[in-house]
Amino acid sequence: MKSFNQLLSESVERHGHLCAGQVIGVRMAMLGCRLVGIEDPKDAAYSKKLIVFVEIDRCATDAIESVTGCRMGKRTLKFKDFGINAATFVNLDTQRAFRIVSTERSRKLCKDFAPTVLDPKRQQIEGYKSMPDELLFDVWPVRVSLAEWDMPGPPRRHSVCTRCGQMVRDGKEFKVGNEILCGPCSEESYFFPVEGYENVGSETLFGEA
Ligand SMILES: [Zn+2]
Ligand SMILES: [Zn+2]
Repeated sequence: MKSFNQLLSESVERHGHLCAGQVIGVRMAMLGCRLVGIEDPKDAAYSKKLIVFVEIDRCATDAIESVTGCRMGKRTLKFKDFGINAATFVNLDTQRAFRIVSTERSRKLCKDFAPTVLDPKRQQIEGYKSMPDELLFDVWPVRVSLAEWDMPGPPRRHSVCTRCGQMVRDGKEFKVGNEILCGPCSEESYFFPVEGYENVGSETLFGEA
């Protein structure tokens, strides 16, 4: 694996700014890979061997993506919206998995590790850079049960919504009573139809100049 500084500069470039989240995310990803025995996650030998679950959609997630090369589009990055600055690293070959949580105590310790840096934001960044892993993170060995259809590779499961006919891939349908429902037809929908809800089609919307 590349050095911390190299990985940090890559993730900063991708993320758009240097922030405490980049430092934490890069260190978390480096530790996670080491713990599950993956030397270089971007080496072709490890392609689709590493799965990472992230538990927050904030800065550190970009850094984890940058270091590991795991992406939602490859199905190697999974998002659990828990609002916790944590990630779980799973080696699919060995099933070794560790959940790493960024500690609350580390925030207060930054000033001890970067006492000469006065700007609070800068102090946080420098403090997180030099703090040992055991202060920065709590680490738990865990077991992750991944369904067959959550694995990388072609879809292993297709269902059709009994209400609207939508094709649903990868076992993401909902069983409600005797019905098989797609997300939008189920209680899980994140949007609500507006008045006159129908497929208006792009031509209707944009076709008439
Ligand atoms: Zn950021
Ligand atoms: Zn449906």
